[in-house]
Amino acid sequence: MGEITVVGSINIDIVAFTNHYPKHGETVFGKKMMALPGGKGANQAVASARLGKKVNMIGSIGRDLYGDNVINSLTAKGVNTSYVKRVDDSSTGCAIITVDQTAENTMLVVKGANDNLTVKDIQTAFSTINNSKVLLVQMEIPEEAVIESMIQARNKGMFVVLDPAPADGITERALQYADLIVPNKQETKQLTGIDVIDLDSAHQAAEYFNQIGIKNSIIKMGDKGSLVYDNGKTEYVKAIPVTAVDTVGAGDSFAGALASALADGANLVASVKFANIVAALKVTKQGAQKVPSIDKINEFCIK
Ligand code: ADP
Repeated sequence: MGEITVVGSINIDIVAFTNHYPKHGETVFGKKMMALPGGKGANQAVASARLGKKVNMIGSIGRDLYGDNVINSLTAKGVNTSYVKRVDDSSTGCAIITVDQTAENTMLVVKGANDNLTVKDIQTAFSTINNSKVLLVQMEIPEEAVIESMIQARNKGMFVVLDPAPADGITERALQYADLIVPNKQETKQLTGIDVIDLDSAHQAAEYFNQIGIKNSIIKMGDKGSLVYDNGKTEYVKAIPVTAVDTVGAGDSFAGALASALADGANLVASVKFANIVAALKVTKQGAQKVPSIDKINEFCIK
């Protein structure tokens, strides 16, 4: 039985590298392409599993080749996929990413089967989930499924962590069931209207979340660290200085590591310190699911 339950998206990321983007109606030849497992839900589940946790993944994929691919990859990484539904009438979620010479990218996301995750699916899955300590959920699936998973998790005494990404269009109703919210700067702006430019503004945003009922928040500020707000007490935790090569998936490894430390009973600040190390080691590697092993983390801590 998983110590952590993740409810969220499962995608295949098709990444194509090119010297320049095709103009409307134009064909250009690219340099190389990669098909990589992705989706915020899957990335976070893999991060927690990589850190030694038992993880349940609840999600929805198509009955297609990419579906086979992503489910095999999750299973191989130790995630329990028995709650992943397969549907016939939608394709597996897919992000088509084009990266040009400047490392700038464009992304076209087809949510596909992720949109087929229903309230009923969540209820069915939770009816047999009993010993999970932490729920980790993001916003790449229907909001009703997000809300139902938070309600179910709360009823089971789990600690509910909401990664409000993407933050576009989230209703206040969805926010009220979270015990902890972990937005980055852009998401904080979308949810609170506050521009996070320093610790004062980050604190104001955390106060805003507190006023609408979310007692704990972590305002992530990339390489500037994060502000941890724990029932009215705040603490600033610095990021670990590293040479970043790929920050895609930084937030996902951060969330997976955070859930993992919280499931072990660590307090919020200690959990953020651990998540910082994991996310910093991840950004030194290419690939959204390149989460460091426990051995690599220990090696880093001894240095
Ligand atoms: P997201 O990936 O969700 O947009 P952030 O960019 O704030 O969120 O990154 C999440 C976490 O990853 C940060 O709080 C920090 O711990 C770590 N991180 C991100 N970028 C860097 C970096 N350049 N150097 C060190 N740590 C980083």
